[in-house]
Amino acid sequence: ARGEIASLTNEAKPKIATRIRANLFWLGKEPMISGKKYFLKLGTAKVGVRLEQISRLVDAVNLSQQQQKEIIEQNDVAECILSLDKAIAFDLASNLAKTSRFVIVDKYEIAGGGIIQEELADSQQNKGNLLNLSWHSGKVSYDDRCKRLNQQGIVILLTGLSGSGKSTIAVELEKELFGLNKSTYILDGDNIRHGLNSDLGFTYQDREENIRRIAEVATLFKDAGLITILSAIAPTNNMRDMIREKVGSNNYIEVYVKADIKTCAARDPKGLYKKAKSGEITNFTGISSSYEEPRNPDLVIDTEKVSINESVSKVLELLEAKFSREII
Ligand code: ADP
Repeated sequence: ARGEIASLTNEAKPKIATRIRANLFWLGKEPMISGKKYFLKLGTAKVGVRLEQISRLVDAVNLSQQQQKEIIEQNDVAECILSLDKAIAFDLASNLAKTSRFVIVDKYEIAGGGIIQEELADSQQNKGNLLNLSWHSGKVSYDDRCKRLNQQGIVILLTGLSGSGKSTIAVELEKELFGLNKSTYILDGDNIRHGLNSDLGFTYQDREENIRRIAEVATLFKDAGLITILSAIAPTNNMRDMIREKVGSNNYIEVYVKADIKTCAARDPKGLYKKAKSGEITNFTGISSSYEEPRNPDLVIDTEKVSINESVSKVLELLEAKFSREII
């Protein structure tokens, strides 16, 4: 048998993953469609591959940015997520171009070529495959549900310090959207800690698990076609990236609800800052646990300057701008 990739112990290890973010150039006469099985060849490895999501599309002939499409056509360059039937070893284009290059084979012909930009976490479906579980698909699709509800499944994350205004904005935003005949639901981090996450505390690991579960639930709600508002501190970029990755960036917006620690502590709507300062509660964000400012939020709302009504309007404007082409 032929090996895959070998590396010396003092060199950076190759990546191993079942999901990748790739830049792909499509040559095939027939477009690449999601869900269909192709083969991916990289070095000596050959594995089944499916198109999971298209993040960006450029027409290679005139380099124009394309409208959002569900397929990759001949001469399109796509940034996309591919999921593989089994894990392969590779390097990232930024580290070692040669072992980041792959080709896609469709019916024995090379139909596309690309480079790997990033390795991604296993999807629920892939994890199941690796454990020999299968994913049961229903006869009602996500698109069917969206048509019925006349909207898209969207997840809106409101992240920020305790007392910055997440819950307040979530409640008012939901009321507005509901008034516009949208089907909505708020997943409030505090509320979820009463039930599903009642076994978790506030250590970094528990916070990560808290967010992982919230992201899983939000993804199911999104798949059900709901506009889901997440109100959660989600204190690190890693955690927020985990949500974006899970939900899929086409259906996701991240809103940083910003107020400085002084303001939040002065507001102290739940009396938590007082307790944190007296040491009655530990690992409290902003006092005894850190909050990393969002690296790349879709929207920043400074609640020291902007009223609750204006905050809600800003989110609605963003929703309209991002999702206007499709049904929201
Ligand atoms: P979080 O959910 O982020 O912990 P809350 O929404 O529970 O915060 O509390 C925020 C507090 O700040 C509330 O008492 C709210 O009335 C007040 N507040 C003042 N200005 C704003 C604003 N522009 N947006 C949201 N909340 C605000």
